Formats: sequence, structure tokens, C-alpha cells
Amino acid sequence: MKSLSQIAAELQGYDAQALPAGKVNEFLARLVQPVQAAERVGLMDAYERVLAEDVISPFSVPPHDNSAMDGFAFRGADLKADASTQFQVIGTALAGKAWQGTVSSGQCVKIMTGAIMPIGLDTVVPQEMCKVSGDTIEIATGVLKTGDNRRLAGEDLMAGGIALSKGELLAPAAIGLLASLNTSSVEVFRRLKVAYFSTGDEVLSLGQVPREGAIYDSNRYTVIGMLRRWGHEVIDIGVVRDNPEALEAAFMQAAAQADAVITSGGVSVGEADHTKAMMKKLGDVAFWKIAMRPGRPMAVGRISNAKTDDSRYKTSAESYEKDSAEDCILFGLPGNPVATMVTMLAFVRPALLRMSGANPAKYCKAPLYLQAASQENLRKKPGRTEYQRGLVSLAQDGSLQVRTTSSNQGSGVLSSMVQANGLIVLHHEQGNVAVGGLVDVMMFEGVL
Ligand code: AMP
Ligand code: MG
Repeated sequence: MKSLSQIAAELQGYDAQALPAGKVNEFLARLVQPVQAAERVGLMDAYERVLAEDVISPFSVPPHDNSAMDGFAFRGADLKADASTQFQVIGTALAGKAWQGTVSSGQCVKIMTGAIMPIGLDTVVPQEMCKVSGDTIEIATGVLKTGDNRRLAGEDLMAGGIALSKGELLAPAAIGLLASLNTSSVEVFRRLKVAYFSTGDEVLSLGQVPREGAIYDSNRYTVIGMLRRWGHEVIDIGVVRDNPEALEAAFMQAAAQADAVITSGGVSVGEADHTKAMMKKLGDVAFWKIAMRPGRPMAVGRISNAKTDDSRYKTSAESYEKDSAEDCILFGLPGNPVATMVTMLAFVRPALLRMSGANPAKYCKAPLYLQAASQENLRKKPGRTEYQRGLVSLAQDGSLQVRTTSSNQGSGVLSSMVQANGLIVLHHEQGNVAVGGLVDVMMFEGVL
């Protein structure tokens, strides 16, 4: 297994004191390993889980050629090229059972959406596209061609083909597809266990008596909310004092149970910033000053499984045993509330997706940005990535526009996140943006 300094040595442009945000993702992609263990779950319990097997279609979907419209089915070859065509209606094909008659040239069958195409027929005229009088219909010249409004057997899925691949994150559409194959259970990777604690002597748990200089712990609520939303199993360790013994115990207890431990606070250069020192004592760690705003200081590390394999730190309540060879990944996030959330989104989310076994090509690439015209001038220095809180809306002409949610874009201003529906990402090399200039926005929809 590679050490963190070996990974760093492999990365071109790695500079721990001014690390480009994109390099952080590259580093993490090399550091983390996907979980191995899988379990079988019922389809209704498979939402947000990651598929651990390829699912092969046992049959074609749809199983038969069928009608895409309510109308009349006939042979396309009967259509006249230069005049309207008349057909005699000789029966009705309903959805759910095959119509059994035979159809001669010049005849048609009334058909409902989803009904099996009668043998020999290949084209459907929608009801509203023909003139009906008694048991005769008339279709105008040139409005249809052979094969129109017919769905082919297997056009969704072919029998024997891969319906869904290992690594698929099971969203409602994928679950629906499995249901269409009569698949009532699937193999999914075990859920990731992620532990979290806040650090800081000034951080109060809710309900504690307020005191001068103290603040209530919001990071615990933002981080755990994100982890739940992303489908991980959360171990909530609460608030830990800036004190080496307390931190060591918390780290070891968390690492013994979890695949990843996330902390906030204590990774800058303040006197009481013990998180950093403790991570170093317990594991292999890299500390970075990332060229970004907010979220400059961050630490990542790894505690080997052997180190935490100690009954003192195990609890009986573990729902999964960790795989024996799996180490624990540490994320020491900055304490400022917006910085904590931004680093969760930009770095922790893709790393956890990889660890979950999700297909990296589909889910762990740079986020899909949406482009919107800036409604204001944005000041930006090249050489760092900035994440500003943005509210995207529709302009009069239907195009997208975005403004920042607060004149105070400070890294502690959580209300700027609440008002936002996305992060305006001003990339590393980018400079000032003038009104009307297009900017990339990472939308919160489905993520926050
Ligand atoms: P630190 O990274 O420990 O230097 O903290 C940076 C700033 O974030 C300080 O103003 C802290 O008071 C604040 N902070 C740290 N942890 C939390 C937390 N859990 N909830 C809210 N604010 C925090
Ligand atoms: Mg602190």
C-alpha cells in the first residue's frame, strides 16, 4: 500500500502549501479503496445503495412489439403513396392480452396503448390523426410511414444484455428498471460507516448553557445531514475538547468502527489546534493549505486497521464488521461552517462515493456544472478556487442568471448557504467576472 508521501510524489504540481483544489481530488482518488463486502437487499430497500453485481436482463423489455398510442394498427405496406388510404376496422386489441384474429390487406385493428401488435401489423395511426366513420377509417396522404407509433420488443432492454452495471448508484429510475425485470432483490455493497465529531473548546453542544466566547455546534448538524443524504451510516461522536487525550480516544474509537472519520476544527495553526497533531500521532497524514476560499486548511490521513483492532475501541452495536484489510480514512476539515460544508462537497463527497463502490467514471468526475450569467461583478484572484454562495434563477428571456446570496461571503456565514441554491465555482485560473459573464455553478439539488 502506498504511503501518503508516495501518493504526493506521483502527482505533478503537488505543493502542500498551495495545493490546487483539483489536486486534492486526484490525491484522494489514489488514497481511498472501494469496500468489498456486499449484501442482498430487497428492491424497496435498495434506494441510494451501490450495485455490487451486473444485472442481466432475463427477458426483453418490452417483451412484445406494442402500440405507443391509442389508435388503429395496420400494415404500413398498405399505405398509398399518392392518395389517402382507407381501412376497415375488424376488431379491438386491448392492453394486457393478445388479439388473436388475422388481418388482411386493407383491414386494421383498433388498438390501445401498450397492447401487443396483432401478427403481421407494424404501424399505428393515432386516433386523432384519422377520420373515423362507422367501421372505416381514412388516413390522409403522407402523414405516416411504416413503423410509426410501434414500440419494438427489446427496445428498452434486450434479453441477455446488461441492464445495470456494477457500481450503479440506485436512484429511482434504476430501481424502476430492476422492477421492470421482475428483479425483487439485488446485491449491493455494504453501506459505508462514517464517524463524525466536532472539535474545539469553544464549541457547545445544543442545550449547554451559553458562555462568553462559545458557539453552538452547527458543523455536526450540517455534516451529518449531508452524510445521511448521501446514504451513509453515521456514527455521531459529538463534540470533543481540544485536548490530546480526549482526541486520541475519540479518533481510536471512531476508527475502530468506521470506514472514514470526519472531524471539523483544529487543523489550522492556532495554539489549541490539536487535531492535526493527533492525526499525525495515530496515522499517516498529509496537511494542506489548499488554494481555495473558503476552506484553506485541511488534513487527510489513514489509520491502519491493525492499530484500531483493539477490543477497547470496539462496540457491540456494530451492524457491519469492517473488512479485515480496510483502513480508516481521516478527513480533518476546517472549522468554519461554510468551509466545512464546501470541503465536504468538493472533496469528501467524491471520495466517499469511490469508497462506496460507485462507478468513478459516472459519479466521481468533476461535478456537472450549470452555467449562468453573473448578475454582478465578481472579484477573483487567479491562482485559487473560490466557492461563492449563489442563487440561480430564470431571467426574463428564460436564460439562467445567478447572484451571490450575501454581500458577506465570509467562511463563517452559514445564512449565505441557506439562501443559496448552489455554489458559484470560480476556477483556479479564472480572474474577475463582469456582469453578464458566464460562471459555473455546482447546484445543491439532490446533494444538500
Ligand atoms: P478552527 O478550524 O478550529 O480554527 O475553527 C475555525 C472557526 O470555526 C472558529 O471561529 C470556530 O469557532 C468555528 N467552528 C469550529 N468548529 C465549529 C463547529 N462545530 N460549529 C460551528 N463553528 C465552528
Ligand atoms: Mg479550533
